[in-house]
Amino acid sequence: MSNEMLFAQFDMLKAQIPYLYSCLLVNLCAVAALFYASAPFLLFAVAPAIFTIVIIRRIVHWRRQRPSRELSAPKVRRELGRTILLAWVLSLALTGWVVALLYYAVGSEIVLLAFFTWTTAVSTASNLAYLPRAHTGIMAVSAIPFTACIFNYGELKFGISLILFATFGFVFMRLLLEHFVEFTEVVSSRQRLLQKHRQAEAAHREVQRIALTDTLTGLPNRRAFLSDLEDLTKVSLSADDFWAVGVVDLNGFKPINDVFGHCAGDAVLVAVGQRLIETIGNRGNVYRLGGDEFGVVVRGVEDASDLIRLGAEMNAVLCEPYEFEFSTAMLSGSCGFAVRPHGGDTPEVLLENADKALYRAKKSRSGEAVIYSPLDCDDVRERAAIEQALRRAVAANAIDLAYQPIIDLVEGQVIAFEALARWDDPDLGRIGPDRFIEIAEQTGLIVELTGQLLRKALCVAKQWPDDVGLSFNLSPILLVRTGYNLSIMSMLDEIGFSPRRLQLEITETALMSSFELARNNIRDLRMAGVSIALDDFGTGYASFGYLDEITVDKLKIDRSFVPGTDMPAGKRQILKAIIGLSTGMGIPTVLEGIERQDQLNEAMEAGCVLGQGYFFARPMPPEHIDDLLADYRHAVAEPQRSHLPGGW
Ligand code: C2E
Ligand code: CA
Ligand code: CA
Repeated sequence: MSNEMLFAQFDMLKAQIPYLYSCLLVNLCAVAALFYASAPFLLFAVAPAIFTIVIIRRIVHWRRQRPSRELSAPKVRRELGRTILLAWVLSLALTGWVVALLYYAVGSEIVLLAFFTWTTAVSTASNLAYLPRAHTGIMAVSAIPFTACIFNYGELKFGISLILFATFGFVFMRLLLEHFVEFTEVVSSRQRLLQKHRQAEAAHREVQRIALTDTLTGLPNRRAFLSDLEDLTKVSLSADDFWAVGVVDLNGFKPINDVFGHCAGDAVLVAVGQRLIETIGNRGNVYRLGGDEFGVVVRGVEDASDLIRLGAEMNAVLCEPYEFEFSTAMLSGSCGFAVRPHGGDTPEVLLENADKALYRAKKSRSGEAVIYSPLDCDDVRERAAIEQALRRAVAANAIDLAYQPIIDLVEGQVIAFEALARWDDPDLGRIGPDRFIEIAEQTGLIVELTGQLLRKALCVAKQWPDDVGLSFNLSPILLVRTGYNLSIMSMLDEIGFSPRRLQLEITETALMSSFELARNNIRDLRMAGVSIALDDFGTGYASFGYLDEITVDKLKIDRSFVPGTDMPAGKRQILKAIIGLSTGMGIPTVLEGIERQDQLNEAMEAGCVLGQGYFFARPMPPEHIDDLLADYRHAVAEPQRSHLPGGW
């Protein structure tokens, strides 16, 4: 018999026991009272008292029983076995008692005794309907005193009624057995239903799990992130509760995908997930929000400085190399946090503010995590104001250019001028190109703005001597715009400026966003005669990695590498290494940001051949260029350098 069946029998029995024993007690008392005058004390008082004690003990015992689901199958089996045995023993004992009483019974007492036997047997058997071995036994045993009663009465017609009772007993037993069979069917179909229900529940849980899991990394996904945030924000905060939402974005992931392939990219994302989980440990949970963006919910830190430390730990592990079979990739992470409640009280606001903090983290080159503060809001308002003003400025073609010379350090000559955008807004004042170019890129204004600036720069540069070139900063967005190189070429053609005098400064960002397109456009521009300089070299992530894949004409080393007495030895080594490697590859380097004589000396000592910086000249309006060129030419003709800008 299955365990479920045992449990079901047990529970039914537990429910029936009070009725069963109550019927028995009532019948017992009735018979005892009937023989009060005629039977000896032992039979009318002692025997019923013993039965009563046994019955009450059984009632108490069953009342104390816990439901079957809290018991083990062997215990339930034991309990049922004991009950069947007791049913038999009690039936036999009662039979003995009734037969003994029969000795003292006369007339109708005999009939009543038979009646007692019969009703006790029927009520007990029906209450034990779920235990066939018990009720068949009771019916069989009770037949003995009943038959004894009938024969004792001695009347033939009464004896004939035995047949009636036997037939009824048989029908009753059949009913009970049929009832039991139905009961077993109900139990097993309930069992099947329960099993199906469990299977459906398991399937539902699996679907839920899949819907909330990122298939690549196995981390909970954006949906899980939002739903967890929803749950967390519903819980009210106590005074010492500190928890934060973080967004982590990878820097330099796209080139890994482009250069090493998507399998490597996938492996990096999985590794990033693992590293973040290991770093955060029990301080919070990690999610993959999509692409190269991860989310964290941090609960186990004490305060903001703890959180910043955690951000630094996360960034440190992300910066460790990612080893593949034949190569190694590097990247870094930026992280923005929003702390509840100052950073928001709903999932949407928290996430939005963490995103704002991330934006700031990405902008600051320090690599530090940023915690959202309402000051970021001012930033957003300021940005909106700049955007409006920029739209007006572009519409009015009001943005201008300043020009900063690029110097051949060996010959002491100006070889080109870099055009740098300048914008003085009537309301907002001077706004740096760092700020407005970025907004122009985000709003798409960059296309029109660059067209205006390039046209202005070409017209100005056309007036310069033929051996002085123009270096123009090209936004990464435009470098990867299909057909943009054609617009540049047609503008050169229209203005009549030789492509050989034009150099475009591009940054690694363009290569990161769409390597193939950038590479093709660079190739086409170079074929047309335009030269390409890789700007801000050394600040990116893959740097030299790109030089295998694309050809550029110059490297502009970022001004953070400018040497000087205050420069750490390690950085000086890096500068030397960059210059050494690029010279080896036949690519000249321009060192940006030279401000002092000692820096110039060291740069030249390190092997730098081209330079740019305030030491030579600040970016200047076009009207000053002729004078500057004249100064340099004069200085070369008469090498008394003291009167040249910066004393060079
Ligand atoms: P960049 O291309 O790296 O330009 C060099 C920046 O360094 C310029 O800042 C220049 O004024 C500054 N600089 C030059 N020499 C020195 C020096 O000795 N010391 C210091 N501290 N700074 C020096 P600026 O003009 O503010 O331009 C900032 C950035 O804005 C540029 O960085 C470039 O990325 C971007 N930008 C400027 N004009 C344009 C443009 O027309 N188009 C695009 N797409 N970007 C532009
Ligand atoms: Ca530049
Ligand atoms: Ca630069």
